[in-house]
Amino acid sequence: MGVRPPPPLLLLRAVIVGPPGSGKGTVSSRILKHFALKHLSSGDLLRDNLQRRTEVGVIAKTYIDQGQLIPDDIMTRLMLNELKNLHRYHWLLDGFPRTVPQAEALDETCQIDTVINLDVPFETIKQRLTARWIHPGSGRVYNLEFNPPKDVGLDDITREPLVQRDDDKPETVTKRLKAYEAQTKPVLDYYQKKGVLESFSGTETNEIWPMVHAFLQTKLPEVS
Ligand code: AMP
Repeated sequence: MGVRPPPPLLLLRAVIVGPPGSGKGTVSSRILKHFALKHLSSGDLLRDNLQRRTEVGVIAKTYIDQGQLIPDDIMTRLMLNELKNLHRYHWLLDGFPRTVPQAEALDETCQIDTVINLDVPFETIKQRLTARWIHPGSGRVYNLEFNPPKDVGLDDITREPLVQRDDDKPETVTKRLKAYEAQTKPVLDYYQKKGVLESFSGTETNEIWPMVHAFLQTKLPEVS
């Protein structure tokens, strides 16, 4: 009787999804601290290509500058190519897939085990993202949650009025969140149908993280 080969190593194929301001960056970095997996962010990969002025980088720039998505075929090729280098590792994708065709193309090369969806109420995110106020004269920055001005709407030192950057204005934030929802919903529905969507709901990262942590402990060994 021959020696039996070891069982195939089960590698985690995960995706993390969450709107801007949902704490996705913090949760991702905590995941990386606790578990040995590779994190591949499409935005980071694109920015790296932009900086290195690669062919993809030059094409991507025109889309990114206009706030548009990179065409699916370019994006998919770029990510799948990068994933080839990670085939021996557990991995977590961030920012990809953003569309159903991207999710379908990903499915053709591997089976996604889990999609971690950070489900934070839009009202909470809006409060977070609109909390920043600036004193234009000095550039002093206030945050209504963490370091509010002594008097609402006024700089502590000069007593001049504070302003909000266009990006931090409620109407801009609402527009971004609505665009996110419209774009992401079909992808979430796609993974829901496949039975791999895991939503974690809460209003604070410190509330959501323990749930994500406990969930991943059922899938991966913790780094000591
Ligand atoms: P992010 O840092 O994830 O917000 O990505 C920055 C920009 O890169 C986005 O606004 C898009 O233009 C582009 N991008 C990132 N990921 C994707 C993707 N999966 N599909 C298409 N475009 C993307």
